[in-house]
Amino acid sequence: MDLYSEQVNRLVEELGRLPGIGHKSAQRLAYHIINMPLDHVKALSDSIMNARQNVKYCKECFTLTDKDVCPICASANRDKKTIMVVETPRDLSAYERTGKYNGVYHVLHGAISPKLGVGQEDIKLKELIVRLREDVEELIIATNSGVEGEITAMYISKLVKPTGITVSRIASGIPVGGDLECIDEVTLLRALEGRVHI
Ligand code: ZN
Repeated sequence: MDLYSEQVNRLVEELGRLPGIGHKSAQRLAYHIINMPLDHVKALSDSIMNARQNVKYCKECFTLTDKDVCPICASANRDKKTIMVVETPRDLSAYERTGKYNGVYHVLHGAISPKLGVGQEDIKLKELIVRLREDVEELIIATNSGVEGEITAMYISKLVKPTGITVSRIASGIPVGGDLECIDEVTLLRALEGRVHI
């Protein structure tokens, strides 16, 4: 016998497709949503639709933006000759919060992971190589400090070495699964300032 209504099952199933949401969490969220005031539910579903429809990748750095080019890339005050490579837009936000980095970014949207079957063609690496044809002096690799982040950093450094562009690696990256809200700006700044040429 089906214990729940078809509609609830459908909601649980859709929520369960989200990363990190197992069946139990999906059920809990579904019940929570069903008990929410209707206008809250509408605000939630509208914000999901609006974000999905209007947010796109910045043409230059591939962070998320609702314009063609994000405010960082569009700014005349940023140093376009220094590019920091990060895994996610959240990592970008973390470095941006320090207020001390004046270069631009390149968001890979992931890291190479043989274990998870993520290859170099699955992240924004080709796009990075294209950008390096322009006038770039330094590439700062700020991928996370876990295995995937290190593999990705090594891969990029090998790829970029022949171009003569200075490649550096931050002293210690954002730990894998680390909560960015808990990583203070001082730690990130220290990692950035302590970067070593590789
Ligand atoms: Zn951008």
